[in-house]
Amino acid sequence: FNVPKAKNEPVLSYAPGTTEREELKAQVKAFREVEVDIPMYIGGEEVRTGDKKSIHPPHDIKHCLGYYHQGDETHVYQAIDAALKAKPQWEALSWEHRASIFLKAADLLAGPYRQKINAATMLGQSKNAFQAEIDAACEFADFLRFNVQYMTEIYADQPESAPGIWDRVEYRPLEGFVFALTPFNFTSIAGNLPSAPALMGNTVVWKPSKTAVYSANIIMQLFKEAGLPDGVINLVYASGPVAAKVIFEHPEFTGIHFTGSTGVFQSMWKTIGENIHKYKTYPRIVGETGGKDYIFAHKSCDAQAVATAIVRGGFEYQGQKCSAASRIYVPESRWEEIKGYMAPQLAEIKTGTPEDFTNFVNAVIDEDSFDKLSKAIDDAKASKEAEVIFGGDYDKSVGYFIQPTIIQTTNPKYVTMEEELFGPVVTLYVYKDAELDATLDILDSTSMYALTGAIFSQDRYAAEMLTKRLTHTAGNFYINDKPTGAVVGQQPFGGSRGSGTNDKAGSAINLMRWVSPRTIKETF
Ligand code: GLU
Repeated sequence: FNVPKAKNEPVLSYAPGTTEREELKAQVKAFREVEVDIPMYIGGEEVRTGDKKSIHPPHDIKHCLGYYHQGDETHVYQAIDAALKAKPQWEALSWEHRASIFLKAADLLAGPYRQKINAATMLGQSKNAFQAEIDAACEFADFLRFNVQYMTEIYADQPESAPGIWDRVEYRPLEGFVFALTPFNFTSIAGNLPSAPALMGNTVVWKPSKTAVYSANIIMQLFKEAGLPDGVINLVYASGPVAAKVIFEHPEFTGIHFTGSTGVFQSMWKTIGENIHKYKTYPRIVGETGGKDYIFAHKSCDAQAVATAIVRGGFEYQGQKCSAASRIYVPESRWEEIKGYMAPQLAEIKTGTPEDFTNFVNAVIDEDSFDKLSKAIDDAKASKEAEVIFGGDYDKSVGYFIQPTIIQTTNPKYVTMEEELFGPVVTLYVYKDAELDATLDILDSTSMYALTGAIFSQDRYAAEMLTKRLTHTAGNFYINDKPTGAVVGQQPFGGSRGSGTNDKAGSAINLMRWVSPRTIKETF
């Protein structure tokens, strides 16, 4: 299989005075100046229903970026029909032609689409330029390129044959259509969830988060420009329950590729279970869900590295990464030192619009999220078991701004040590050095999640002990680094327990879920 060897797209710096910074600013300005009218894309047709919903930057809620057309049941049926209609031709297309579309999409992302996708992510999802570049341009291109390489590795995996026999495995796409349900927090994930099954020869109905429609529209334009045939990926905007009802009752439903909340995933799984007799085949259920990701500092840690990990891992993209550090365990003997290193870093963080490149923390995604986070902060202020030691302010007059906040608790099972908040609120527990063992037990049993976790230790024996003790607490485990920022091709991403099916985004494991292999034995 001769495919270009996948390489990570180099991350541009956006430093003051660079061309990329000027281009990005110009793109943001251009997007702000027009109100875009966003259709659904069904079977290659642009579908406008007239049921228009407005789109506002989370950091500037009075500004209107445009409208999208909301669909209903009929459109979900149409999207399914379009996917099924496109399927025979698409799955018969040779893999080189499928791959070439997505490789071209990656090149477009790295080139002419770079600032479009980054600006859309900045405006629509309130993500700063540096985080947008890592996500929307680079990680998205990486997913597309690495998946092509993994696809060929899968196809190359063939059995041995006895004399006179030729055994082979045909990696067929699934029978039916795949449903992709995508989140707001990573534009790369929104692009990967429909494109990975499509690359393997499936056709897809795609419903993005209603808070990330602005960038979803650019993704669809990108796929179209890269040459994706009509009907292979069909983009619908319908409410979750409406889409779920139609899709999960359909006999041709063959799999779901999901990133989002644990609650939604569990309820969909139940519905799929209840409808299991209606389907032609057992559906593939692939989901990346919540996290309550930890940093555990051992007494032998490098205090400065721990401090940096808390600030970066906790507050990049407002803590709205599934991988964000949100519960922290530090030993009493090192706490003052760690706090000393954190203070100046925290003081330096500016919160505000991403359109000003000096703001590190921007708005949280919507009012529901703002309300949940501000309530958690108020509860901590009122609690006898907790204290807000940094931040604690919030304001939604212009946008949904929550100041980066650190809650210190005396109870390692305090509510925000356990429940996912998905925002810039970190909870920290100082454990007694002599209670290391008991604290590890508490860490392991406190949360239902197991997505990412980081340990800090300069003592190799302690590092090994922690790595073994915490085996099932994280699907992405970091030694002496923050728990965010997994890179495609380097740290395949995904967790277990309540965090998902751990089918590692950007890996052959994930792509294997989108094929149904046929073993062929031919006797000569
Ligand atoms: N892959 C991202 C990271 O390692 C997180 C993805 C997510 O939030 O779902 O930070």
